[in-house]
Amino acid sequence: MPVFRVALDLPLHRLFDYLAPETAGRDDIGLRVRVPFGRGERVGVIIDVAASGAWPLEQLKAAGEVLRDLPPLPSDFFALCSFASTYYQAPHGEVVLQALPAGLKRCAPPNRRSVRPPLPGEPPLALPDLTAEQAAAVAAVALDAGFSVHLLYGVTGSGKTEVYLRLIERVLACGRQVLLLVPEINLTPQLEERVRARFPQRTVVALHSELAEAARERNWRAAFVGGADIVLGTRLAIFTPLPRLGLIVVDEEHDPSFKQQDGMRYSARDLAVVRARQVGVPAVLGSATPSLETWANAGGGRYRRLTLSERANRQATLPQIRILDTRRLPLHEGIAAPLLAAIDERLARGEQSLVFLNRRGYAPVLACPACGWVSHCRRCAANLVLHLADRRLRCHHCGFEQRIPSACPTCGNQDIHPFGRGTQRLEEWLQGKFPAARILRVDRDSVKSRKQWEVMLERIHSGEADILVGTQMLAKGHDFPKLTLVGVLGADAALYAADWRAPERLFAQLMQVAGRAGRAELKGEVVIQTQYPEHPLFTALAVHDYAGFAASQLQEREQAGFPPYAFQAVLRAEAPQMADAIAFLKAAAALPTVAAHGEVLLYDPVPMRMARLANLERGQLLAESLSRPALQAFLPQWREAIEGLKAPARLRWHLEVDPLEF
Ligand code: ADP
Ligand code: ZN
Ligand code: ZN
Repeated sequence: MPVFRVALDLPLHRLFDYLAPETAGRDDIGLRVRVPFGRGERVGVIIDVAASGAWPLEQLKAAGEVLRDLPPLPSDFFALCSFASTYYQAPHGEVVLQALPAGLKRCAPPNRRSVRPPLPGEPPLALPDLTAEQAAAVAAVALDAGFSVHLLYGVTGSGKTEVYLRLIERVLACGRQVLLLVPEINLTPQLEERVRARFPQRTVVALHSELAEAARERNWRAAFVGGADIVLGTRLAIFTPLPRLGLIVVDEEHDPSFKQQDGMRYSARDLAVVRARQVGVPAVLGSATPSLETWANAGGGRYRRLTLSERANRQATLPQIRILDTRRLPLHEGIAAPLLAAIDERLARGEQSLVFLNRRGYAPVLACPACGWVSHCRRCAANLVLHLADRRLRCHHCGFEQRIPSACPTCGNQDIHPFGRGTQRLEEWLQGKFPAARILRVDRDSVKSRKQWEVMLERIHSGEADILVGTQMLAKGHDFPKLTLVGVLGADAALYAADWRAPERLFAQLMQVAGRAGRAELKGEVVIQTQYPEHPLFTALAVHDYAGFAASQLQEREQAGFPPYAFQAVLRAEAPQMADAIAFLKAAAALPTVAAHGEVLLYDPVPMRMARLANLERGQLLAESLSRPALQAFLPQWREAIEGLKAPARLRWHLEVDPLEF
């Protein structure tokens, strides 16, 4: 009797054997199958058909119905899952099944509605003439020469999207599919519209976690079997089976949201490169501020660098950047007079200003000056943020919230104050300062859904706002033609943060937000307030010198032995008591397999920076090596040994490879 080896959605690193029908054969590999499991039934994926299993046949249960509503998942899909499972130490079955839409994993009958065919439409008649740099970039990507990786490094507004569109056009003309990955689809409705408008006769489907289940399944099926030509998706879309894949584009490749932060902690950007190599197609990674990993790969010749050094629209120039030294200037509610004057000028000219403060809420904390009480979250090592609009104190980490107390809970003092500043407070103050101005606050409290975001963008575009107050939501890829001033507040916190990636993120964020100013014929200006005007990050930013900044950061990383010059994995444990978490990590560090891998260095177990989250204490243990193969050889053995450790009942642990946050 043949045996099905089946991947099931379980946190176990093994496959499950079931008796297969006599007629089973290798054609069944990649099909879904119902199988008995425990007292119930599950849907798994057939990974292999073997003549015999790991167990005596008489101990095996019989597989149920083989589902044939879809063709078998293709071998390149399994190759990607298998790579991800090995590289990220994630259970194979989980990896395979997380890639499928929920409906296909249930025993209920599948949804069979199909994607609406494109409405008959005409492609735009006049495409812009490419700049010489754009043309060179398009020409440099060989679409029929197998695998290659290109970094499309272009300043904001340099026309990277236009380059993607031209490449996509050529790939579609060869009858192939394109996977276009973006960080957060909600923030880029304009891109989706642009793609649909450019290819009105093609089927474009979106894949992201905010789609309703049925829509996601429909789009996924269209990508796999329904002839969709372009898949526009967030990180999870990297696993979509695409039988005619011809090109993968990763827009804003530096964006941290390409990294999955729970379950299998993968980098969709890195998997895009792996997938392109496995399938033998080009990958294009685009950014104005590439991640330092990618920049180093381009510098080392592993990726080919394509540069767009100027804004595509000839009238638009890069904004002028002014650094304001706040040590020398009086501040009004955190804003220096020259910035206020600059806003005033814009108001007089009927132009828009944006004040960027990456902290939502009214104030980051409520405090009692009499006894020193501050509003802590009782479940996390974090403060409760004051939200005056709905009179709540709210934890931005675990979601805990409560009413604002009328007096200090410790000493009864009624005179408790908000301390520091968030976007709500800034909005309120600016409104008092400029009573005639129309002010629009844009952050995750004022914009909760894609619909609200579209409405907000429309209001900004139609000139309904004079001053925008916003967080990084506003920083990403939008064209606001009337926006000529960007003021940046509160940037200093990231300069000397404990997180050594903070400067890289800050630089990217500031470049991005600065890129909102002066996108059209009106000239843009960016004003950054800081107490450290001589900091190299600001001096590089002032002259739009990403390359210089990256070179100095990479040099620091090399000297400190940080990625991309070292390779890391982190073991995290969380438990009600920190002592349990640390004891578990110590036991993991003492396993014999650790001593056997001299090329991998383990640090001491320590509490995480955010040591308490939602009532759990969290510790971590960093493993590092100068050799990626050495780390990769170590991890599976270590993981297996850790699985054998005895842990307290409420302790949870996981491994993360290439962690971005600690
Ligand atoms: P990026 O993706 O690099 O931020 P976009 O592709 O969005 O840049 O282009 C910025 C602006 O310049 C857009 O309004 C776009 O229509 C325009 N643009 C792009 N390429 C050209 C070109 N070759 N000539 C004129 N305008 C262009
Ligand atoms: Zn008090
Ligand atoms: Zn909390």
